[in-house]
Amino acid sequence: MAEGKFGTCINCMDGRTQEPMIAWMKKGFELDYIDMITEPGPDGILGLRKKELADSIKSRVLISTEKHGSDTIVLVAHADCAGNPVTYEEHLSHLRRGMEYIRSWDLDVDIYGVWIGDETWLPDVVASIER
Ligand SMILES: [Zn+2]
Repeated sequence: MAEGKFGTCINCMDGRTQEPMIAWMKKGFELDYIDMITEPGPDGILGLRKKELADSIKSRVLISTEKHGSDTIVLVAHADCAGNPVTYEEHLSHLRRGMEYIRSWDLDVDIYGVWIGDETWLPDVVASIER
């Protein structure tokens, strides 16, 4: 097992969301490293269960949980998302459904859904599924 405490972030590829998520997760969950799994609009991919991409995300999550011992998974949605250009309400729905999908993988993890708004570009927890 790798040294240090790891967390897992299923984030958008959008460059505006990378540093905020790393800083916020390290501080909020007292983590040393964040395994960053990026796709365009991952809330839409998992929320709508787009199988091929969802399987790819899952395979990377499993490396983070099994090889790095991560027990914290954060799924991110954000404003002005080019990969999943839907309303705020739809993003929240995709986040919740995406989190349920992650739960169905039956991992020993806490799962959080985060929204990043375009006023501050700071993460905000909107839903959680804790063990
Ligand atoms: Zn995006």
